[in-house]
Amino acid sequence: MDTVTIEDKTFNVYMREDEIQSAVKKVASEINERYKGKKPLFLGILNGAFMFAADLLKNINLDCQISFVKVSSYSGTKSTEHINQLIGFDIPLTGRDVIITEDIIDTGLTIEYVLQQLKNMNVASVAVATLLFKPGSFKGTYKIDFIGKSIPNDFIIGYGFDYNGYGRNYKNIYQLKTQLTAFALTGAPGAGKGTQAEILRQKYNIGYISTGDALRSEIAAGTELGKQVSGLINNGQLVPDDVVLSIIVNFMKKAKESGVESVLLDGFPRTLRQAEMLDGVLKKEDVPFVGMINIVVDEQVLADRISKRAEKDHRADDDLETLKKRLDEYHTKTVPIVEYYRRQNKLYEVNGVGAIEDINKEICKIVDEII
Ligand code: AMP
Repeated sequence: MDTVTIEDKTFNVYMREDEIQSAVKKVASEINERYKGKKPLFLGILNGAFMFAADLLKNINLDCQISFVKVSSYSGTKSTEHINQLIGFDIPLTGRDVIITEDIIDTGLTIEYVLQQLKNMNVASVAVATLLFKPGSFKGTYKIDFIGKSIPNDFIIGYGFDYNGYGRNYKNIYQLKTQLTAFALTGAPGAGKGTQAEILRQKYNIGYISTGDALRSEIAAGTELGKQVSGLINNGQLVPDDVVLSIIVNFMKKAKESGVESVLLDGFPRTLRQAEMLDGVLKKEDVPFVGMINIVVDEQVLADRISKRAEKDHRADDDLETLKKRLDEYHTKTVPIVEYYRRQNKLYEVNGVGAIEDINKEICKIVDEII
């Protein structure tokens, strides 16, 4: 099976049986080598590790024992980083060579906790063996002695791994098919869209397009399109809807292949017609639009910001006279889209006056909720 569905989630095959078995054999042969002449005690971590522990032991050629403890640190698809108590930790371990046997090390906090419990138990040695390791989320401070395979941060099921308790019985390992989503930033000229977008790009795995930046690059490169739009932009007017739409269509195609979690549209849509065109593009690409974030700033503050930016960045449309025109365009053409998204319960408003970091915190709260 290439895809499986559990409840509302669809998962794609990530590691097939044979690949899993070769990862298991790799761990087993390293253990066989290191523990020659010893009688290690495998300490399996339930529930997830039962499959891996069983297959691992079939490949161990040493005299060994196995015991299981239960620690739970997962609920749903995100690691809660909350560890429940250890159950079944009453085996005599004094003088034993203990190999903690885990299916996956994610944040690593579960094993950190088990290691701490082992500290006062006079064991001869402790090692950690895991089938899978997520370097992207590891926060532990200990060494992992045996790793079958390192994997990216995606949520997985199958071969002992579960989603809400289901999926542990699958022979393959499957990865959550993440649904690409789109969201947008809007606001009057000078509201801080670009500044906030830059911070979001560093924090999230998102694709990003600013139609303003894209158009300015066309002008700078002297392309036909650039020549066509430079007069309008320098005069504070919007460029034709079809021109920006073609930029968005190209961007969406690339974004879909890039493996990002969500795409952020900065400065698009800016008219009702663009909002409707965007709906069409996203529908075709099967990408849900999850929210429009409106950064709200008083007009006097905008005028001050724009005159400061004019001194710094020398943008051709950053003078007070052009700002007036851009504000007119904003009021007549862009404000209606705010209502368009409000009606769909997809509008989020943020006060854009204050410290950049504070405004960003507000925006991140929204982004965490919607993407
Ligand atoms: P921005 O950098 O977003 O402030 O955009 C600068 C200028 O580029 C605008 O004043 C418009 O002339 C043009 N522009 C950017 N995005 C759009 C859009 N979605 N629709 C029409 N014109 C746009």
